[in-house]
Amino acid sequence: MNQRPNSLHASDIAHSMHPYTNMRAHEEKGPMIITRGDGARVFDDQGKEYIEALAGLWSVAVGFSETRLADAAYEQLKKLPYYHSFAHKAHEPSIRLAEKLAEMTPEGLNRVFFTNSGSEANDTVIKMAWFLNNGLGRPEKKKFLARNKGYHGITIASGSLTGLPSNHKDFDLPAIPVTHLTTPHYWRCANEGESEVAFTARLLKELEDTILAEGPETIAGFIGEPVMGAGGVMTPPVGYWPGVAEICAKYDILLVADEVINGFGRTGAPFGCQKYGFTPDILVTSKQLTSSYMPLAAIVVNDKVYNAIADNTAKLGTFGHGFTGSGHPVACAVGLENLAIIEENDLMGNAARLEPMFQDGLRKFADHPLVGEVRGVGLIAGVEMTKDRATKTAFEPAGAMATKVVALCAEEGLIVRNVYETVAFCPPLIVTEDDVAEILARFGRAMDKALDWAKAEGML
Ligand code: PMP
Repeated sequence: MNQRPNSLHASDIAHSMHPYTNMRAHEEKGPMIITRGDGARVFDDQGKEYIEALAGLWSVAVGFSETRLADAAYEQLKKLPYYHSFAHKAHEPSIRLAEKLAEMTPEGLNRVFFTNSGSEANDTVIKMAWFLNNGLGRPEKKKFLARNKGYHGITIASGSLTGLPSNHKDFDLPAIPVTHLTTPHYWRCANEGESEVAFTARLLKELEDTILAEGPETIAGFIGEPVMGAGGVMTPPVGYWPGVAEICAKYDILLVADEVINGFGRTGAPFGCQKYGFTPDILVTSKQLTSSYMPLAAIVVNDKVYNAIADNTAKLGTFGHGFTGSGHPVACAVGLENLAIIEENDLMGNAARLEPMFQDGLRKFADHPLVGEVRGVGLIAGVEMTKDRATKTAFEPAGAMATKVVALCAEEGLIVRNVYETVAFCPPLIVTEDDVAEILARFGRAMDKALDWAKAEGML
């Protein structure tokens, strides 16, 4: 039991069930209570300062103290705190935000549907694909293709798309027809001696072979994160995305870019699909859309998808789908203001400008005795902990080293997150050169301590 004289700790242990938490361990450890934010930094209830180098959950682009977003929420709450957009109703914030997203996203993506979360957005994508194919008279075209280690959410359908064992095991998932393909991670998944180009060719062959084996007439969509996030930050091998796009187009399979993490400058380009040279039929955004000050996600679709859905609604009389909070006016007002801040301060450009310093700085750890690979792009990166770099052997027990590093980072005043063996970085887009230097310095001190610990524990 945590002995700190703070009733909030005791109350949390007594009453809260935490997401993504070992609940029994939590009863012993207690919570880390964050009380306030200031730019890229947050403070805990003991007054300790941390650089938030994961931007909350990969999401707080404008930092933790942006009063313009507080004001936008307050003004909207006073004017029209809630309204919906069912059955022809509308309000200005969601109209303006849909217009803004159509303008910001790549050419051809013109129509926007709002949900409250990324998971709901991907559920909605699945339902859109099913609805559309039923409307087009091809009810057998329902399966999805996704990738091992992809992350698309945790609801029953979006959690089925996710390709991570902890999201499936004991939840009886996948519960919809989905085939998970090889993770496009060259370092981990290439064969011995296989070039990056050959690796890409093998993955594209796997994709096409899978489509042909299952029958193109049975496959509705392919979903992927341009840069994979919560599965361990994996950037795609050269030529992968244009190849996937070509194959999807060939077999009339909807290509869905899950840009919940990638969107709005994270990769150094406005959207990950632009960074990697492809245009999806459906683009899903959330997180940095409002900097997570309010829950909101947006699905942006092209005219082909919109028209097929709209035609079916005309036949059926409605689109029987939508959430009470779809396009919530306060969330949309915050989203609009957040995107204005991103544009006015050129935060996407900031990510591109700081990319070399951030990525090169982290790659200096590639020779560290605990590290297997450092990877990333823009302001997102992963440092994979590996017992033996040459053989790529992981530490045991699984994830223990990355967990230790994350705990040591916290001691140094740096919040990062371990995703399996990888320590993930995804700082707010507002970070400065000084912040990046400080992130690297604190991480370096944590890695030195981790090495001492690993030696003392006999883990190396
Ligand atoms: N897609 C991706 C790529 C994500 O990273 C996440 C969340 N980490 C989701 C979907 C699910 O979003 P949410 O947690 O808002 O349901």
